[in-house]
Amino acid sequence: MNEPVIRDVIIIGGGQSGLATAYNLRRSSLDFLLLDEQAQPGGAWLHGWKSLRLFSPADASSLPGWLMPRTHELYPTRQDVIDYLTHYEQRYGFPVQRPVRVASVEQIDAGFRLKTDRGEYQTRALVCATGSWSQPYSPDYPGRKTFQGLQQHSAFYATPDEFRGKRVLVVGGGNSGAQILAEVSKVADATWMTLQEPTFLPDEVDGRFLFQAATQRFQSGNTAQGGGLADIVMVDSVKEARSRGVLQAVRPFTALIQNGVVWPDGRQESIDAIIWCTGFRPALGFLEPLGVLTPEGRVQVQGTRSVRQPGLWLVGYGNWTGFASATLIGVNRSARQTAREVIDYLQSPNRS
Ligand code: FAD
Repeated sequence: MNEPVIRDVIIIGGGQSGLATAYNLRRSSLDFLLLDEQAQPGGAWLHGWKSLRLFSPADASSLPGWLMPRTHELYPTRQDVIDYLTHYEQRYGFPVQRPVRVASVEQIDAGFRLKTDRGEYQTRALVCATGSWSQPYSPDYPGRKTFQGLQQHSAFYATPDEFRGKRVLVVGGGNSGAQILAEVSKVADATWMTLQEPTFLPDEVDGRFLFQAATQRFQSGNTAQGGGLADIVMVDSVKEARSRGVLQAVRPFTALIQNGVVWPDGRQESIDAIIWCTGFRPALGFLEPLGVLTPEGRVQVQGTRSVRQPGLWLVGYGNWTGFASATLIGVNRSARQTAREVIDYLQSPNRS
């Protein structure tokens, strides 16, 4: 079998983060390639629920180089984002091979060997941009395995139909929890459970404000909470839910039982279904052979660069890889820095 071509850079992941990194590498002389396990562009946006909308308007949700075209309504739909990412990739003609799923990454003298379902790839530098959608997370409450009702993570939620007429617990106080509660509460007896009181943005502000306010705090070095990217944007569906008085949240149950939950005061309540809107973990399991993963499945980084593994960068995993890096408007800052470091790394004779 002939040895695979050794590339200068491979980017694993062709979602918004991979594309932003490719955009910042496109003018370099480096031979780079993106590998993505999905048959079409769009990254995680291919899997969001049907009514999912951005929480910022198109002009505040763009990747570098090309503004997202104005959309019919103020907040772009999931399909608008998929169309944008598809056209963005075509516009710049990025070299994306899909579907290619990376199973493992090993270190070799020249850099890295990637084992995939389409054979082996080799590269001198590696950028991971695999997001987190494929790693839904839900907390392990006592009795989790005892509960006989339906359990579904927001990553798999599509529409409220299957919850019609049921007693449903929506767990999670972020934008997902609020938007799914708003929908499900129209067809089911829904209770909203959050760790602390949910924080809502004022009606007239949206993701742009969050991003600007969080950027100012970031630039002033003030990382205190408050006005964070986790605040709930009052998109129309959430405003409508507020008018029905359903945006009241309760604090967590103490345990799950076969047909429901036990609340802190000891009361038992029958529940038919739980929707876990409790976030995700980074999709980085393929890095296991490098021995760089922390117990939380992350990698220790300086900016986006692995502290322990030369030639490895991570883009788009949220604040631990760069402020607002898990957003369309925020990812370019870290993608641009990553591209600069990769170029320097590959051009320095005694790279380490
Ligand atoms: P992804 O979009 O997940 O793309 C990663 C790609 O890598 C995928 O195509 C995946 O298939 C591929 N991949 C993964 N593992 C492998 C592998 N082993 N081999 C090959 N390919 C692999 N952001 C905003 O900017 N504005 C918003 O309004 C907004 N709203 C959101 C609402 C919700 C409910 C959620 C959950 C997120 C929201 N986000 C929003 C965040 C945004 O959707 C994600 O941060 C974004 O999708 C991350 O992009 P990414 O390219 O890093 O990862």
